[in-house]
Amino acid sequence: MSASSNDSGRDDTPCYVARCLCGCKRLVFASVDDGKHPKETAKDVAGLIRKGYTIERMSVSEVRVAKWMCAKNVQPSVRL
Ligand SMILES: [Zn+2]
Repeated sequence: MSASSNDSGRDDTPCYVARCLCGCKRLVFASVDDGKHPKETAKDVAGLIRKGYTIERMSVSEVRVAKWMCAKNVQPSVRL
């Protein structure tokens, strides 16, 4: 519906996000809340809350630059 072009690369579409529970604060989940599949999004979010995650909201642009994967869970590339 919007006539504005998005050539800046910014995307303010809201997302639901969850951060790692270990305290590293990295993202482990993000779901775009664009209203296209509200039931699935609600189910995902409810499941995460049940597992103890705190759900936050941020824009797609913020999710893109956020750090992902648990910092304590990064596997070294060298095997001993
Ligand atoms: Zn972590």
